[in-house]
Amino acid sequence: MSKIQMKTPLVEMDGDEMTRIIWAQIKDTLLSPYIDLKCEYYDLGLLSRNDTDDEITRQAALAAKKYGVAVKCATITPNAQRKEEYPQLKKLWRSPNGTIRGILDGTVFRTPIPLSFVRPTVRTWEAPITIARHAYGDVYSAVEMFAEPGARGKVVFDDGAGSITETDLPAFTSPAVWSIQHNTYKSIRSFAKSCFNYALSTKQDLWFSTKDTIAKKYDGGFKDIFAEEYENNYKQDFAETGITYFYTLIDDAVARVIRSPGGFIWALKNYDGDVMSDMISSAFGSLAMMTSVLVSPDGAFEYEAAHGTVTRHYYRHLKGEKTSTNPIATIFAWTGALDKRGELDGLPELQAFAKKLETACIDTLESGVMTQDLAMLAEGSEKITPVTTDEFLRAVAGRLS
Ligand code: NAP
Ligand code: MG
Repeated sequence: MSKIQMKTPLVEMDGDEMTRIIWAQIKDTLLSPYIDLKCEYYDLGLLSRNDTDDEITRQAALAAKKYGVAVKCATITPNAQRKEEYPQLKKLWRSPNGTIRGILDGTVFRTPIPLSFVRPTVRTWEAPITIARHAYGDVYSAVEMFAEPGARGKVVFDDGAGSITETDLPAFTSPAVWSIQHNTYKSIRSFAKSCFNYALSTKQDLWFSTKDTIAKKYDGGFKDIFAEEYENNYKQDFAETGITYFYTLIDDAVARVIRSPGGFIWALKNYDGDVMSDMISSAFGSLAMMTSVLVSPDGAFEYEAAHGTVTRHYYRHLKGEKTSTNPIATIFAWTGALDKRGELDGLPELQAFAKKLETACIDTLESGVMTQDLAMLAEGSEKITPVTTDEFLRAVAGRLS
């Protein structure tokens, strides 16, 4: 059998711990036998980031920008505790995802992988709901303060051209808290573009919601920029693709989402997206079944699993135990990237392979063979066989061949 040939390289970002182990197994048993993998490899494992003063992360992000498609393994974001575990760390390197997002200026889209035997908590949901969370500003970079009774606050704004306006805060007669938030038109516009591009790329309706009736300038700015981008740059493509853009107030959106059949993208401001993505993922089942893709406004795509490096399982693995770690989201990161590479390079056989691998995974799960995390969630448990990661990967490989 001849292997599928690729044209443009896929940017491969390797990672840490249990997901690094699974990463190599996926390549060896599910990909390399069928594809002549053309990857530009970047080792984003913690020690490699440490050795290169994190330059490797920047190089990987620039490569993703250059080639347009990347696939990333979960990575450790070191904290003080990791310093004990890795005494050679020169510093607590910042989150690789943060660095990559900064360079690609992208938006993260998270989508659950649905299974017939894990029913969403919300009865009406038939298809996954994708959350697009704006990842800049608002409360996450707010200036906030505590005020004692009797304190007087004033906001002084210098427009940089000699004009100064002063706004008094209300007089505080009891202890009080206050906060000043900001966002930039540039970041909001990038967010809007990423959302419209991703909706077109996945052929799904796009919803966007804010509280613009209350925050007329702030949330109103978000609403207006989205409307302007849509009118000027996306309306025709949306019509041709047969999808719609729908703006509504966030309270109305929440009520509609709960009554909807799903199957659309819901774009949200930073805080709303933070909260709603946790609700959506737990209502659909499990973090181990959640995929994530970072889309830049100029159309680069970076695919990954939404979960982390599954540290607890890794320590069991190091002790020689067989773990039952769910590899699905990591496999789907690969299939997402291969499908996108195939689409951009005009390689239908690569896209067909990605689809077949996804089907092999879902069919294996639907036959009752699954890792422990899913076995615990599954309905109709009599036909369920909980297996180790190795056994699960072998079952998928068997179906695939
Ligand atoms: P985690 O790796 O997502 O794991 C948390 C727990 O969720 C696991 O202990 C496991 O529960 C369950 N779980 C997650 N993925 C699973 C899978 N594929 N199969 C089965 N169970 C799964 O989160 P964490 O323990 O908070 O973080 C570990 C490391 O990952 C940290 O160093 C963090 O910085 C990093 N991280 C990286 C990313 C990223 O690169 N995108 C994202 C998040 C966290 P049980 O132990 O109960 O089985
Ligand atoms: Mg959250």
